[in-house]
Amino acid sequence: MSEEYDILIKNASIVDGTGAETFRGSVAVKGERIAAIGEVKGDAKVVIDAGGLTATPGFIDVHNHGDVSILHYPEAEGFVRQGITTFVGGNCGTSPGPYGDLIDQAYFLYDIYNEVAPDMYYPNRLLPRELINERHRELYGWEIDWHTMGEFFQRVEARGLSPNYVPIVGHGDIRYLVMGQDFRRKATKKEVKAMQEQVRQAMEDGCRGLSVGRDYEPGYYADIDELAACAKVAAEYGGIYTSHSLRTGLRKARRPGEFPPPKINGILEAIEVGRRCKMPVEISHLSPLYDVWPGGSEIMTEAAVKATLKAIDDAREEGLDVNFDLIPHHLTGGIYTCPWLAAALLPWLRITGSRENLAKALQMREFRDEIRESIMSGKWYGLNPNINPHWAARPTIVSCRDDRFVGKTVAQAAEELGVDPLEALTEILSVDPYTKAVVKGDDDSTKLMFYRHPEMMIGVDTFALDDKWECKTPPWFLPNENSFGGFPRYFRRAVRETKTLTLEEAVRKVTSLPAKKFRLGDRGVLREGAYADIVLMDPETVTDRGDQLEPRRYPEGIEYVIVNGVTVVEKARHTGAKPGRILYRE
Ligand SMILES: [Zn+2]
Repeated sequence: MSEEYDILIKNASIVDGTGAETFRGSVAVKGERIAAIGEVKGDAKVVIDAGGLTATPGFIDVHNHGDVSILHYPEAEGFVRQGITTFVGGNCGTSPGPYGDLIDQAYFLYDIYNEVAPDMYYPNRLLPRELINERHRELYGWEIDWHTMGEFFQRVEARGLSPNYVPIVGHGDIRYLVMGQDFRRKATKKEVKAMQEQVRQAMEDGCRGLSVGRDYEPGYYADIDELAACAKVAAEYGGIYTSHSLRTGLRKARRPGEFPPPKINGILEAIEVGRRCKMPVEISHLSPLYDVWPGGSEIMTEAAVKATLKAIDDAREEGLDVNFDLIPHHLTGGIYTCPWLAAALLPWLRITGSRENLAKALQMREFRDEIRESIMSGKWYGLNPNINPHWAARPTIVSCRDDRFVGKTVAQAAEELGVDPLEALTEILSVDPYTKAVVKGDDDSTKLMFYRHPEMMIGVDTFALDDKWECKTPPWFLPNENSFGGFPRYFRRAVRETKTLTLEEAVRKVTSLPAKKFRLGDRGVLREGAYADIVLMDPETVTDRGDQLEPRRYPEGIEYVIVNGVTVVEKARHTGAKPGRILYRE
């Protein structure tokens, strides 16, 4: 008996990814591709009765750090369970290579870095490979043994992966490789030349572009000439330039009065690189680049969003190929989330070693005074009222041994106690170092305004993980909610609850638009001959389930996910299949 197709999805609402209207029908898969769509006759080895579910192309996540953890979590359950069939790795200037004797994997290997090179304030993230590997071998049974991106790709292919991976190389890793520990300065001509050679190697190895991280070390120390020189090489290969533009300034010690540059200049710089190098530009995780304080004024917020988008629209009108992406969760975008209020005093949590010890130490007046001194001199810039006057208005206490504080922000608690916010924070933590706090607020109107833009795409900005993952060293980070529910949240908020976008438009922005931008041939659409990357979801129920206290929950409403013709998620469970591929430069 030989069936015509491998998989036949019957009785589906089909949203093909182009923005065209939904139609009813079937999708037939043979091998890795879609063999027929619409009214399909014939039999298949596996028949899936969609029962009215919506079939869409698999979601393409354009801003992602899954490459950094894909060897540890090749099944990338947090991604595929939310419908991501392809992720773009290597963003924010950080990729898993090229490496020399020093490596920076500090974000993902947070515990290892804390253990082998403890530091009170801002750790040096560039450490000897040997040192990292000693502990890495103990924990995982293998070593970080590659140098070039090409060698890394071999490791990934040997292990297999569930989603597809679009590789970008990080300018940061290249800059580290060339300059070593002496990176806090402008690069010499010779060094820039060496960086260009590294970009060339990465592009030859199959990367699809170059990313920069301008708020981080070492990308912060580059200038536009260096960035353009590196980007130009990527452009020779048809590469893209993805930019985490300068917004906060270096996230390190900063003295009062040292303000970051105007945020809008960051994206103007990225656009200028695109102009000089005649290459496509992707602005990473866009947010309003003008501050409005206090919030709550719709007119002011809208003005900030419009002014931000104008820079992008002006560039597009000029003929430049500029897009941008957003992180779906509106409050806690980023790689991690942390429920512990004690995280606000991270340096002192590190030296005391535990929450109990921190509470004890906070009973000493001198200890509190020393914390204040350190903060006011700029060593730990997060709580400095001269740098960030509104920090205390953000965390809302949700659990604390002293009921008086529950439901209040630190600022409100301070008012009640008649002390300043820093004194209130130390008081609360001395009473209960296990106090939990979240960032509250339901207002995602800013995000929804950005969603409307026709060139907007989505990226979860996190690692490939499963729902067991956590940090085991202070401040005990958890993965961000977006790691599990970013795309379901996008559909819930943008389509079902606010009707900001039609389903067809919302799907287009995460399928055919990113496929076109990253030149992924035959992906991002449901049509005969395209790769069978398919999601079956229920737009009426699709939802994220994690929150800041427990982000590690898989979403609901994503029933089937197929990658290259192989079922990876079946009835909302990972099948263990690893049909993903590295989508090399074509
Ligand atoms: Zn970033």
